[in-house]
Amino acid sequence: MTVRPALPPRLVIATHNAGKAREIEDLLRPFRVEAVGAAALGLSEPEETGETFEANAVLKARAAAEASGLPALADDSGLAVPALGGAPGVRSARWGGPGRDFTLAMARLERELGGGPDRRASFHCALALARPGGGVRVFEGRVDGRLRFPPRGANGFGYDPCFAPDGDDRTFGEMTPAEKAAFNHRARAFARMTAAADRRA
Ligand code: IMP
Repeated sequence: MTVRPALPPRLVIATHNAGKAREIEDLLRPFRVEAVGAAALGLSEPEETGETFEANAVLKARAAAEASGLPALADDSGLAVPALGGAPGVRSARWGGPGRDFTLAMARLERELGGGPDRRASFHCALALARPGGGVRVFEGRVDGRLRFPPRGANGFGYDPCFAPDGDDRTFGEMTPAEKAAFNHRARAFARMTAAADRRA
């Protein structure tokens, strides 16, 4: 039996990124929360001026909650590569350029690594849940792994085809959505959020 945590029954998913929205909807499904898309409500995306995933998640969730009058869940996430000083980090989306072309972003990663041996990388996710006129809570998750080139697999989105989580040789791009959900940074942040909601229920 699924225990329903104290998540709001209806909330806005404050993202215009289709890949993220799909994963968040999958995560919410067992909790029978009605998820409303930011685009469907005509919400615009605020500029991501924060220097941390947490700061950007909070500003997106707050903006969506205030504009819609509904609780809002925002995700700010990205890839950190120690050999590149943590880049692209909070600039992960911007590395895709105006057309958000991650084939280009992955080619840039490979180029900047320049054949160096350190291929470690981690995905990070901050999920912020904001209530209109009220508080905001943030939950974080990460997954460690390594970069693989050339990129492999057509599943997922963003940098998935060049990232293999520790313990598996396949990239996220080669995994089914359910397989990726067993490891990934977003699912881990989400598990923390539902655990916190359970404690309050
Ligand atoms: P932002 O949170 O809107 O700044 O965008 C985060 C960017 O990080 C996305 O556009 C993706 O390129 C990348 N990213 C975040 N999560 C994932 C993931 O699960 N797989 C692949 N790329 C991701």
